[in-house]
Amino acid sequence: MNKPNQRHDKNGRRVTAIVAGRGDMGFIREVAERSGADLSVCFHCRCCAGGCPFIEAMDHSPHGVIRLAQLGLRDEALQSATIWTCVGCHTCSIACPMAIDMAAVMDALRQIAIETGAATWWTPGPCCDPPV
Ligand code: SF4
Ligand code: SF4
Repeated sequence: MNKPNQRHDKNGRRVTAIVAGRGDMGFIREVAERSGADLSVCFHCRCCAGGCPFIEAMDHSPHGVIRLAQLGLRDEALQSATIWTCVGCHTCSIACPMAIDMAAVMDALRQIAIETGAATWWTPGPCCDPPV
């Protein structure tokens, strides 16, 4: 279900309206510490999105997720389907002029989403069930 500040663009991708002043500005630091990637240097050239083989299946582009983190939009980033769609192929990292390790960023976001319970739509399948 969409949040009040979310819409869809003409391609069906989710678009989040930015509400100034409500961001968690510690979030980007948390992601940076976990991933070892400095997200603040992303200047949104879109080279990562241009080469991502799974971009069509994502709700936010890879750099869009970074933008959410830069703006402190913690819930939007952690509830994005993009962080579960990324397969960590590193195509984007090779193309990135700022050498941002996007796969590590997505890993960090997945970890935080699971640990904080933010990944509300994600349900472990049989492969993730503990052995009986
Ligand atoms: S390629 Fe790098 S600098 Fe460019 S938008 Fe993607 S993450 Fe940001
Ligand atoms: S690492 Fe993830 S975001 Fe980057 S190109 Fe591969 S699937 Fe796309």
